[in-house]
Amino acid sequence: MPAVRIEGLCKDFGTTRVLDGIDLDIPRGKVTCLIGPSGSGKSTLLRCVALLEEPTDGYISINGDPLGFDRGPNGARVKLPARQIRKVRSRIGMVFQQFNLWPHMTAVGNVSEALVTVRGMSRADAEERARKELDAIGLGARAGHYPSELSGGQQQRVAIARALALDPGIMLFDEPTASLDPELTGEVLNVMRRLAESGMTMLVVTHEIGFAASVGSKIAFLDHGRILVEGAPGEVFAKPREPRIDQFLETYL
Ligand code: ADP
Ligand code: MG
Repeated sequence: MPAVRIEGLCKDFGTTRVLDGIDLDIPRGKVTCLIGPSGSGKSTLLRCVALLEEPTDGYISINGDPLGFDRGPNGARVKLPARQIRKVRSRIGMVFQQFNLWPHMTAVGNVSEALVTVRGMSRADAEERARKELDAIGLGARAGHYPSELSGGQQQRVAIARALALDPGIMLFDEPTASLDPELTGEVLNVMRRLAESGMTMLVVTHEIGFAASVGSKIAFLDHGRILVEGAPGEVFAKPREPRIDQFLETYL
């Protein structure tokens, strides 16, 4: 069973169909990379899996458990109760292009906050856990620093630690290095590479084709809300290529 199964996923904004029948399996313990031109629907797809957007149609399941909606009697699509939604949603961690750290909290504060407010941990236990996560990504010495005192790469690593502290089974990354200076991209990709090696299931939207080709075990190319090509990097990037992928690679390589 895949970690995430997406079936017939559609998302409309007003009268515009942004996701148009996405079928995609995210295998467990592997990295799936989602690539495609700007505006093709990559972020919307991730946001649907994180339930930050409500899909217009289709189904998503996490380890076989329906997320948000399930098939009801007579094939009707039924919304699940809020408590059930929260439980399945809690298995998913997400990292955004903009790190979204709280500026008034230190690194430890940022990583421990949800452990206290969402998971009900004591402040002391939460901070101990946060320090462990920061140590693991090489930021132990920066635990007491505020975001403004950290580089962009360090801030993004704190954001990754914050997501990991909640013990997600699946990590979603939406262009995690896109707002970083080129010299800071490597440190974030290295943290992600190590996370992949530890066996984390990851769905990564990225324009870092080198990373996608070397760390991804599956690549899906999204175009106008549809998956145009899907397969192992060797299949998707091999020549002769789908012309849309050629165009895309010309822009980003
Ligand atoms: P990508 O991440 O691939 O660049 P997005 O998923 O952000 O693409 O956007 C896909 C399309 O959906 C774009 O045309 C975008 O303008 C539109 N879109 C995204 N979010 C919204 C929204 N909240 N309201 C209306 N349109 C949106
Ligand atoms: Mg996007």
